[in-house]
Amino acid sequence: MSATAQTPIIPIKSSSEPPHVIAPDAATIYATRAQRFDQLAEGHSLGDWLRFLATITRAQHAALQSLPALALPEASQLARTREHRMPPLPAQSWPRDPLWQTALREIAVAIADAAPEPAKKDLARLAGFDDERLEALAGRVLHTELYGDDVALLPYVAAALQVVWTAGAARLGASRISALDVPGVCPCCGFLPVASVVRGVGEVGNLRYLHCALCNTEWNLVRIKCSSCDATEGISYRHLEAKGLQGADAVRAEICDSCKSYLKIVYQEKGPVDPVADDLATLALDILVDEAGYARSGPNLLLAPGG
Ligand SMILES: [Zn+2]
Ligand SMILES: [Zn+2]
Repeated sequence: MSATAQTPIIPIKSSSEPPHVIAPDAATIYATRAQRFDQLAEGHSLGDWLRFLATITRAQHAALQSLPALALPEASQLARTREHRMPPLPAQSWPRDPLWQTALREIAVAIADAAPEPAKKDLARLAGFDDERLEALAGRVLHTELYGDDVALLPYVAAALQVVWTAGAARLGASRISALDVPGVCPCCGFLPVASVVRGVGEVGNLRYLHCALCNTEWNLVRIKCSSCDATEGISYRHLEAKGLQGADAVRAEICDSCKSYLKIVYQEKGPVDPVADDLATLALDILVDEAGYARSGPNLLLAPGG
């Protein structure tokens, strides 16, 4: 190759620090995720389920686009949470807008035709619940009590809550979300991360961001550090050897020997990865790591445990 044929190196701007927080883009977050679910479903042993998750995610996209503007906390309240280094839209105490139930009904209607038989029964049951029972299910999701009766209904409830919290995070924007003292929880809503993403390009290239399981906000955490206990020693990585499994090489489990927990990392350099979709397409990795004695440190709310 001659010197003139080389691709010119375009310096990335170094004037600004990489962002600590990246707020979700309400216009694209769920549309992009749905595409990734569809892509991962091709030739996958769980293809039908992943395609149904694509349908749910597309319904989340539609519900988010039609959601009226949410009331955010007053400026004085936001200033107070910033001063005390508290999340501005805390999962467990932000008074949730009843609009989340509207989002739930919209999602349920949009996915009904595509739902497999057991899911159809779950959705019919959910449709019969009154406000009080729905609020009780929402409370369980937001307190990560993902077990017990009706556990199969929780992913639908979670999908609607994700829409509302994502709308709130997007409306707030990164400039109004600041770092917390606890690096392992979301600086916008205080919820746990579903996975982390190593960014592939641009000014945030090669940086690792944790991705909130509830509001889709991302926040920076240095590489090779446990997001659960802050340990930097005894961290190791596992991945699936499975040949032909879509996206398997883009995902690793970051394992911590100090607290015996793990969380997955998805690598954007490997393609159009999504922390939620790629996580669910690699459940075999969870089984592998669970069997080795490690417990997952953050939930994927679209998965009903044992469901
Ligand atoms: Zn969050
Ligand atoms: Zn740890």
